Formats: sequence, C-alpha cells, structure tokens
Amino acid sequence: MSFVSQSTKKKYSIAMDGPVGAGKSTLARMCAKALGFIYIDTGALYRAIGLYCYKNNIQVESESCVINSLDNIKIALEKGDGQQRVILNGEDVSDDIRLPEVSMKASAVSAIPKVREFLLDMQRDFAKTENVIMDGRDIGTVVLPNADLKIFITTKAEIRAKRRYDELIQKGINTTFEEVLADLNTRDYNDSHRKVAPLKQAEDAYLIDTGNMDLQRSFEFTLSFIKEKLGLNV
Ligand code: C5P
Repeated sequence: MSFVSQSTKKKYSIAMDGPVGAGKSTLARMCAKALGFIYIDTGALYRAIGLYCYKNNIQVESESCVINSLDNIKIALEKGDGQQRVILNGEDVSDDIRLPEVSMKASAVSAIPKVREFLLDMQRDFAKTENVIMDGRDIGTVVLPNADLKIFITTKAEIRAKRRYDELIQKGINTTFEEVLADLNTRDYNDSHRKVAPLKQAEDAYLIDTGNMDLQRSFEFTLSFIKEKLGLNV
C-alpha cells in the first residue's frame, strides 16, 4: 500500500472511532485539512475488499473464499484533489466503494480475522511516517492503541441514518430512510459483536456526541478540542 503525501515527519496520531454515519469521516477529513495532517479513512480499505468480492462474485460468507482472494488484492491510498482516492488493483474505485451494496460486503469481510490482519500493518505504517487522523472502528483499541488522542464520535441511530440518507440521495443513489436505518443498525450490530476488534470506545477515548450540532459546529468543536488536548497552535 502506498500513500502519496507531502508530509513525511511524524508528530501526532489521532484515532477517531465510532458507529456508521456518526460523521467521523467528514469531521476527520476537515480537521486533518485544518491541522495539515493526513486523513486516513480505514473503512475505505474494508470497502475495497468488499468491492473486490462483490465484483468477482466471491461469497463473503465464506471465510476461506475471501482469504484466498487476498493474494489478488492490492490497495493503495492516494491523495487527489484534497480527497483520499482508493486504488484497487490499479483502478480508482473511490466512488464504487460507497455503493450501499458494498457497505454490507465490507461489514461482512471486516469480521474475518485474516482480513483485519491483512490491513493492520498497512494502517500502522501510515502513522509511523505521517501526522495522521485515522478514522474507523478499532483505531483507538487495536490499530493505534498509543495514539496521542482518541475520540469516539457518535449519536442516536435515527440521526445518523437521516444524515447518511441525505448524503446518498445527494449523490443520486436511490434508497429509502428505512433501508438506510436498517443497514446502519445491522452493520453496527455486526461491527460491535464480532470476535476480533469489535467496535467499542477505547477506555481512554473522549466521547463527542454530534446529535445537537450541525456539521460546521461539530467541526469547530472537534478541532478546538483536538488543539486543546494536543496543545497545538495551528
Ligand atoms: O467507515 P465505513 O462505514 O466506510 O466502513 C465500512 C465497514 O468497514 C464498516 O461497517 C466496518 O464493518 C468496517 N470497518 C472496520 N474497521 C475499521 C473501519 C471499517 O471493521 N477500522
């Protein structure tokens, strides 16, 4: 895996975890930009594997089929027009990995321990060489247990589903609020009940509930929280 970036000097790592649709990706991206950090969307890595399985008719319910396919999967994260681009076997799949059908595949493959192992070192390598804000489910608990700051972003499922629904509709993806809520609840259940690296707040993570804040307010709050906790004067 490679990441093309401008910064090479490691200073800080920030772990941002939380359930589906909590807004952590958007917040992490905005905060990273404001701080001059690299943003790493780890969900995109699981989505890329989910997409590979989807495109190649690999049964995600079969651990051995998914594990056997890992040898054929090469994922790279590249920086393009201010956004992280996801390259799967040489093809830019940044848009395809966001399709709702890929979300469930990502959730299924993410429960397979070998898949998590496959992605673990790649994720850790980013934090060795870069100032990062990494978002996911197990960043504070497993990937970067020694992160300089851990934040757990969440709010009620209905609020998260409404935000996710609006986002999908804006992108022209045909779905309903009920479908989005059901998908979100299923993924949250799967993510928090799997045996390996389940979704949970790290003991030393700070909880931020974005339920009462719009995006701009959540961003301002989270950014000043990070600056205060890390003593940054950016
Ligand atoms: O964050 P996002 O919704 O894009 O992640 C897609 C799926 O990847 C999640 O539902 C979860 O199952 C999995 N994931 C994970 N660990 C991470 C990031 C994502 O298991 N660190």
